[in-house]
Amino acid sequence: MKLLVINCGSSSVKYALYEMDTEAVLASGLADRVSVRGGDEATLKHEPVGRDAITVSRPMPNHTSAIGLIMEALTDPAHGVLDSVREIEAIGHRVVHGGTKHASSALIDADVIAAIEACVELGPLHNPPNLAGIRACASVLPDTPQVAVFDTAFGQTVPPHAYHYAIPHDLYGKYAIRRYGFHGTSHRYVSGIAGGLLAERGVPRETQRIVTCHLGNGCSMSAVLGGECVDTSMGLTPLEGLVMGTRSGDIDPALVWFIMEHEGIDTDQVDALLNKQSGLLGVSGISSDMRDVLAAEAQGNERAKLALDVYCYRIRKYVGAYAAALGGLDALVMTAGVGENSPIIRRRCVEGLRFLGLWLDDAANDAVVGPKQPQDIAQPDSPARIYVVPTDEELTIARDTKEIVGRN
Ligand code: ADP
Repeated sequence: MKLLVINCGSSSVKYALYEMDTEAVLASGLADRVSVRGGDEATLKHEPVGRDAITVSRPMPNHTSAIGLIMEALTDPAHGVLDSVREIEAIGHRVVHGGTKHASSALIDADVIAAIEACVELGPLHNPPNLAGIRACASVLPDTPQVAVFDTAFGQTVPPHAYHYAIPHDLYGKYAIRRYGFHGTSHRYVSGIAGGLLAERGVPRETQRIVTCHLGNGCSMSAVLGGECVDTSMGLTPLEGLVMGTRSGDIDPALVWFIMEHEGIDTDQVDALLNKQSGLLGVSGISSDMRDVLAAEAQGNERAKLALDVYCYRIRKYVGAYAAALGGLDALVMTAGVGENSPIIRRRCVEGLRFLGLWLDDAANDAVVGPKQPQDIAQPDSPARIYVVPTDEELTIARDTKEIVGRN
């Protein structure tokens, strides 16, 4: 079964074509500068497995044109991997906000589209491009089933005491203001792998206490009890929680009007300040990219060091909070760009957490950079495990899509 996974962002479309009988990737790629005004520099990077990659430069004024170009690349005589797009038997879409209606992935029909539309207010940057991608695929392949895999779904098992904010209750009723959590597909995937490894060590699935750290450009953590998410660090929007590349994460909400008043800026500007100019970039003044900040710190840059200290301390604090939420800890999982590739940051995130049973094996930690398989970097006799698990959101979307299409 050939299956296409689509991840439409506001100005990009990522894709991967799978042969699901073997779960092999046949081709993947990225359309960039989609829907960007005057987007002359729009490009499609197409990487077929076993054939030469190509970069096509062509304006893509909307997501429909991007999907059209992707379909062309997939069937290109020299660089394609399909004779016809009709070979694609199903399409899985990453959808960022599913609200409270979707606690799991869903076959896309008029109701699901309406539910995604209803969440546009909660995910204004993400849901419209997700919808555009779904509609563009439906126009090219009207009879091919499509599945939505929601970033918020995994967080739907979080109990009320953890998802409610302590604000007037009628706001929850009026606007569905609550914690939703994001990166759910990644937290689900890596906690599932860690759960399997713990089960092999004799820790029963039902009682497993796992904390997952997705540390990419966006960063979030989840507390997972017996396979169900019971708390997660991102909130109504992805701004809450950890320090990220350009997002502040947790702040005193009073900062918002303090900054607005003293800097004379409006809501859009303060939104940009906290989402795009804060985090590692804001504190270090150097970059949102972890590699740049680490390099600057190594050269003695004090603000780079401060940014990394704030970043790692926030993670340690959440590990402690989530160990309390779970009543202990069986495993800590690190994933995504930073979690998979940076022994230094991993070490700093567990420093001082020996009392929680997290005994890092320094040599094992240093040896793990960009692993293809899950790795255990705790000391052999550590009471809790520390796993580095390469995340695979696309494969998770592909598996859900195959399962749901098969069932229907
Ligand atoms: P996204 O959230 O965009 O999917 P990724 O999961 O690819 O992001 O993570 C990007 C982050 O990972 C960047 O901050 C990047 O610097 C960091 N990163 C990638 N490789 C390394 C490395 N070897 N050491 C430290 N950080 C790394």
